Amino acid sequence: MDIFTNFAAFVFGLIFGSFLNVCIHRMPQEQSIVSPGSHCPHCKTPIAITDNIPLLSFIFLGGKCRHCRKAISFRYFLVELASAMLWLSVWMMFGLSIPFFATVFLFSVLIVISVSDLETGLIPDQLTLPGIVIGLLFAFFYPPMLGAPHWKGALIQSAFGILAGGGSLLLVGLLGNVLFRKETMGGGDIKLMAMLGAFLGVKKVFLVLFFGPFVALPYALYAKIGKKAETIPFGPFLAIAGAWIFLYGDTIAKHFSLFNW
Ligand SMILES: [Zn+2]
Repeated sequence: MDIFTNFAAFVFGLIFGSFLNVCIHRMPQEQSIVSPGSHCPHCKTPIAITDNIPLLSFIFLGGKCRHCRKAISFRYFLVELASAMLWLSVWMMFGLSIPFFATVFLFSVLIVISVSDLETGLIPDQLTLPGIVIGLLFAFFYPPMLGAPHWKGALIQSAFGILAGGGSLLLVGLLGNVLFRKETMGGGDIKLMAMLGAFLGVKKVFLVLFFGPFVALPYALYAKIGKKAETIPFGPFLAIAGAWIFLYGDTIAKHFSLFNW
């Protein structure tokens, strides 16, 4: 039974991963994620259902379009696999429950945001703005997510988390603008932190703000020194820190007396 439901969770994750790939490809260009159907990003030929099977089609077609034979980004394969692993592990952690849906939702959004930010430097508002509202809804229906016994307390935590997350990054950005006389923090990063605040509450969103730069540091050094990059996407690192704090924030907070208030 367990094997069956675990397998089902993996397969649902694969299918959902295909959808995430569509979001990654279309959202930064503000295209509809519903229509038209899947097509090759190069020759625009519609992709038959039999050529659109997660993971397998990529392998059988050698990572190339059946029609124009141009290479399809390996990212499609990776996102499908990541989504399947996400569904499977979160299913094994929580089973059918609100925390399952909250975690799958939040982490899926973080996957799309991260890849989109890496590929285009954009964090789609179509994800972060509804994400803020959905974070509030999860707080309302599942107060323990915010460490509150009651929906009122959870909503307050969530609302202040939005303000603290978005507000603190806005301040960092304004400070950066004054110090470096150029745009240092994108609006997408600010909305991403506001969304994380909705799911994490005030205390834990500050943990993300604290740990985010450390997560970003190795890549930032590599990009600045190795590739002489002008700008470094901050979204993926906020996303990694956010996911980590969402799962283990309570334990981590205990180890940092600074945050025991
Ligand atoms: Zn093609």
